[in-house]
Amino acid sequence: MSSEPKYKRVLLKLSGEALMGDGAYGIDPDTVERVSTAIKQATEIGTEVCVVCGGGNIFRGLKGAAQGIDRTTADHMGMLATVMNALALQNALEQQDVDTRVLSAIPMANVSEPYIRRRAIRHLEKGRVVIFAAGTGNPFFTTDTAAALRAAEMNCNALLKGTQVDGVYDADPKTNPDAVRYDELTYMDVLRQDLKVMDASAISLSRENNIPIVVFSIHTDNGLLDMLTGQGICTVVKESDAE
Ligand code: UDP
Repeated sequence: MSSEPKYKRVLLKLSGEALMGDGAYGIDPDTVERVSTAIKQATEIGTEVCVVCGGGNIFRGLKGAAQGIDRTTADHMGMLATVMNALALQNALEQQDVDTRVLSAIPMANVSEPYIRRRAIRHLEKGRVVIFAAGTGNPFFTTDTAAALRAAEMNCNALLKGTQVDGVYDADPKTNPDAVRYDELTYMDVLRQDLKVMDASAISLSRENNIPIVVFSIHTDNGLLDMLTGQGICTVVKESDAE
């Protein structure tokens, strides 16, 4: 078995739900600890890891807006939710002796470093895990788009989307036992078929920058490590070789 990482530098997108465990809301400490262990394993084989946390386990701007909150204010609240997740993940990583920095797109001097691209790259070069908080810092965006943006800015070799299932299927594998998993898709397949991988702006941005998107299960033991060493099950979204 090769323990050489397939990708030297990766951006891991964790939705808020990936930190929620079986609960309906909030942060589950055991789940956060498991995710941290997976990230630690990735760093131990020499992968440089940066992370974008979502916030949907705490607050979503669209839902807030539907309840009558001004959309921009609601999105600011959503971005603050991502900071809470980022701090929870940093705490769990530090408890496992993994050097971690949180860089926020909304400056919060007492809580985290501000997002400065060169500083983030320096942290990665020093082997630290970098967690990007507060999305893009702008309302009307999502953390999927933030993940594609930071992956491009950090010159990442892949954008990893950790989900509950081990790839992209043609139907929901939880409710349909005949659902078939794709090994590979093109960005255009995802856009044309409206497959639920990441939102359309994240797919377009990754396509423009030629960054493969790898969808894998973050909740399988060694899921991240296996995927990085080429043993795991996943779906890779990239430009087809002919295109
Ligand atoms: N958000 C935003 N701008 C960004 C990223 C996120 O306004 O660049 C807000 C938006 O309200 C969103 C919330 O933060 O609903 C949480 O992010 P997201 O829904 O992407 O989290 P996930 O679904 O990944 O848990």
